[in-house]
Amino acid sequence: MENKKISKILIGTNNNGKLREISNLLPKNIIVYSTKDFNLKSPNETGKTFKANALIKAKYFSKKTKLICLADDSGLEIDLLNKKPGIFSARWGGKKNNFNIAIKKVFKNLSKKDLKWEEKKIKCRFVCVLAIYWPSGKKIFSKGIIEGIISKKKRGTRGFGYDPIFIPNGYKKTFAELSPKKKYKIDHRSKAFRKIKRFF
Ligand code: IMP
Repeated sequence: MENKKISKILIGTNNNGKLREISNLLPKNIIVYSTKDFNLKSPNETGKTFKANALIKAKYFSKKTKLICLADDSGLEIDLLNKKPGIFSARWGGKKNNFNIAIKKVFKNLSKKDLKWEEKKIKCRFVCVLAIYWPSGKKIFSKGIIEGIISKKKRGTRGFGYDPIFIPNGYKKTFAELSPKKKYKIDHRSKAFRKIKRFF
């Protein structure tokens, strides 16, 4: 059973941006379920690492639905902020996951560290750990990283989360200014996905 290619899967996220991006990475013939199909709330992310939190989500949703579940835990690490928000990236947006609030918090924290941060290259990266959990207990993980710098201002309207302030290395545009196609080609989630493609 487990060595067979996965033909249907639950995507273990309540974040619409992630749901869209993960669905787009999967081959078109796969039957995709979302947590909304089962009216499921997300579990508390009590882990201390992206990997631990990805497993918490994949295992929780798989147990609830008896389906194979693909979940990710991801976030933005900013070197000047000692790798924060990191695993707290979603939580910086408050209870309603408001990314404007999260981005303001990034700017505020950067100013606290260095009033002249806008004149500097603020190194950062998006990290994504994907976990697949099978009802049998089998699990696998994969990690993807994209390096970049923080934009002085929010730019662009595409994508989600911190996309308007993330400029990938080698580009002038933020993730929110790039077409989704271009983002998928280089981003942390697709890099992690490429390593586990063989399961689909
Ligand atoms: P979590 O993995 O559900 O805890 O949330 C990860 C958070 O990291 C998201 O809510 C976003 O704030 C941020 N994030 C992760 N991936 C991306 C991305 O591709 N673009 C922008 N923000 C992201």
